[in-house]
Amino acid sequence: MAQAAQFPLPTPEIHVWVAYLTARCNFACDYCIQKPKMVPGQRRKPWGRYQELSGRQWVDALNAFPVRPEHPLILTGGEPSLHKDFAFIASHLEGYALDMTSNLTFDIEAFAKEMRAHGKVFKTSFHTYHPGFIAPEKWLDQAERLRDSGVVEQPTFSMVNLQRFPHFRSDEHDRNLAKLVQLADRRGLIYQFNEFRGTHMGEGFNREHKFTVDCTSAWVNIDPEGAVYNCQYHLTERKHAFGNITDIAAMKPLPKMGEWFSCSDFGYCDPCHENSGHGAFRDAQGNVFRRTANDARVYLQWMEPQAIRDVARRYFAQGDHQEAEHALLAAIGKQREGGVDDGETWADLGVTLYEQGKKKQSLAALQHAVERGVTRTETVASALLVARELGMADAVRQNLLRYVPAQHLDPIEQALDAMQPLGSTTDTTAPLG
Ligand code: SF4
Ligand code: SF4
Repeated sequence: MAQAAQFPLPTPEIHVWVAYLTARCNFACDYCIQKPKMVPGQRRKPWGRYQELSGRQWVDALNAFPVRPEHPLILTGGEPSLHKDFAFIASHLEGYALDMTSNLTFDIEAFAKEMRAHGKVFKTSFHTYHPGFIAPEKWLDQAERLRDSGVVEQPTFSMVNLQRFPHFRSDEHDRNLAKLVQLADRRGLIYQFNEFRGTHMGEGFNREHKFTVDCTSAWVNIDPEGAVYNCQYHLTERKHAFGNITDIAAMKPLPKMGEWFSCSDFGYCDPCHENSGHGAFRDAQGNVFRRTANDARVYLQWMEPQAIRDVARRYFAQGDHQEAEHALLAAIGKQREGGVDDGETWADLGVTLYEQGKKKQSLAALQHAVERGVTRTETVASALLVARELGMADAVRQNLLRYVPAQHLDPIEQALDAMQPLGSTTDTTAPLG
């Protein structure tokens, strides 16, 4: 009881506790986010080697925690079932709402038998199909076995959505995935597609830029040796441990959920945990942001203008013109800070503004693009079309003639004369396309 009074971890209700039983995996997916700098086609495994705690050590330590009535505890890795005592740990933990993530390669019958023998169940579990490492039929058999075993109340079966990331797919990947979807539909297995979390602040997850922010990431992440960290980055780098679960009396207090602390490692954080909505960040201007909230604009401050333009293109392509405009204005601001006034960015902005019905602003941006040397046919044509819609054709023509020779302008105007009015045409999207 004295131990309970001194117990250093914050209240359990809102913290997420995660036990990384191993940092090993029997697969080696090129899109594994447990290490940075993922390279398409390059096999990769989780992050490190440890003197793993034994099953008995895990159970004794976790069962000694005094404040945990039905607290969620995720058993994960790497692949947690590679731990030699995986079934022992799962079936001997007391007072937790258990969850696990696993690639489903373990012996489910033997595992279920052990769980039943001790009257234990998992509340939830999460299993992703990795097409490069297991045949669809086999994975489906395993998924059905787990679903029907009754040892998990709410299992979730999933696949990583790599539709927009063909870099991380192969012919084998596509074949296996198509087969799995077909078989799962036929056999009635419910599955979902997960967001690919391998991008970070508009770039690949590369750990190239670090920033100081305030953070509230107060997970209880326990590494395979029992050391406790507040986030996955610090766990994988073994940085700023709060103590070890085998000696909880000596553990330093973790921040409370919602409590701000300064961290100079932002930018290296693993996108997985950042994206899962626990914890938030605060920049130097006091703006609070979460990766999962509708506040993606904050990332622009750390990005180069060209990368911001790429973000704007993606927004534009998905029809999110307001965000595209915001990003382009941010890129222009940054370019100007650096003494550059880039016409291509203005051309993109002109098109984006037009799509939002801001015709006068669109015309101004397109003309500025031309003034800055963007005299491509589609940009000049876009400016002329908007000018016609605004009844300003003559004045704009005169202005454009200062930058575009008449022998280039005239054929564009003739082509426009032969065209239908602007609006349903796709011409104005060309600069961003
Ligand atoms: S199965 Fe999961 S942990 Fe293992 S390599 Fe693949 S993505 Fe990484
Ligand atoms: S800013 Fe990132 S690296 Fe730093 S504590 Fe928060 S989640 Fe961890």
